Amino acid sequence: MVTRPISDFSGFSGRRARFEHDRPDAETARELLERLLQRTQQEKLVSTTDLRQRLLQAGIDLDMPRLADARGFLASDVTLDTAALETAPTPDISRFLLQIMDGDLAIQNFPIFENRIANIYAYAQAIPGGAVANYIPELAKQDPNAFGLAVCSIDGQRMALGEADTPFCLQSVVKPLNYALALGLNGERYVHHHVGREPSGLGFNELTLNRDNRPHNPMINSGAIMCSAMIRPGRPVDERFDMLMRFWDSAIGSQACSFDAAVYASEQATAERNYALARLMQSHGVFPEGSIVERALDLYFRSCAISLDCRALSVAAATLANGGVCPLTGHRIAEPAIIRNTLSLMLTCGMYDFSGEFAFVVGLPAKSGVSGGLMLVVPGVCGIGLWSPPLDRLGNTVRGLEFSRRLVEAFPFHIFAGTTGELR
Ligand code: GLN
Repeated sequence: MVTRPISDFSGFSGRRARFEHDRPDAETARELLERLLQRTQQEKLVSTTDLRQRLLQAGIDLDMPRLADARGFLASDVTLDTAALETAPTPDISRFLLQIMDGDLAIQNFPIFENRIANIYAYAQAIPGGAVANYIPELAKQDPNAFGLAVCSIDGQRMALGEADTPFCLQSVVKPLNYALALGLNGERYVHHHVGREPSGLGFNELTLNRDNRPHNPMINSGAIMCSAMIRPGRPVDERFDMLMRFWDSAIGSQACSFDAAVYASEQATAERNYALARLMQSHGVFPEGSIVERALDLYFRSCAISLDCRALSVAAATLANGGVCPLTGHRIAEPAIIRNTLSLMLTCGMYDFSGEFAFVVGLPAKSGVSGGLMLVVPGVCGIGLWSPPLDRLGNTVRGLEFSRRLVEAFPFHIFAGTTGELR
């Protein structure tokens, strides 16, 4: 093994999110266009139809907001020459097209990747067992055979399988962004004065607090209720909820979130445990001063009823994988430190009391929910959104676990795979 002297790291500046590399550099728009034309000729792409084909093969959809300014051009069928190119791409788009043609994308051979993912999906689909959650009556109506999966790379390459377009309610999958928003609004010190960052080793709605009478972490119910209390506490709940939805929308890069009123009502009607958790925290006086606990609970219930499909969830996961910059729009949703904190807690606490086991075997930040949703983050590579309602006894999606295990067998995605030389 080659050991590296410590001094080698002195100039190490850390990885920037993709898209942030795309600052205008020395190359002028004209030079970029010339290089683009050269590359298309080398690649024997004669018309925009060929170019479109090339994008699709790389997993890039034309509906990507990042390509909006060139959509008409890309959808047309014209010969690729200087005149045609001059009418179309902005420098940012030219750079992106060059990146695609250079094969400089997070997932280099997308067709092979898609194929392998489809095989893993098929394996997971065949896994029997598990039971659809029924403690919230509305959830019991979910189809146990539904199985959706979508992947989005940090460069916006996308694929989807099965029921990837069927919306489902996020339930606990909402917790990472609920926490990230609370961090953004209040800062790390304040937030972690009210909620811990240690796994609980217990169920997500266990009536328990840590040694300081705080919730163990933001990924379980008590911690998420506490984070809800820290999202603009003085404002009306409608406005606070709207802010959370908009935060999700910015992570997804579109307005894909909706609100499932039936799930919300069902959740409210069967919320004894969450009320008990809130009362317990209240009895210890650990809510931020001035909190109205009922409103924090209301915001929490509403957040669990946010609905979206696997395609959208995969983009939110990819935004986390990309250090907080949405790959489809290029917009930063939160500071890098907030994303790092969120990923750390997803890694240590995101899979209920299976989190340690999951970190050991799969080694990826993830968050599951009782609707059967799962958000998986492969830092620096891609985000995965998965939905399959049957749960194991700890509350994790059975097919989701199988998929995750096989994923890291097929790809060197475990966060320590690079350290142990497993990178292929
Ligand atoms: N809404 C659910 C609850 O509070 C969320 C729990 C979950 O997904 N684990 O019970």
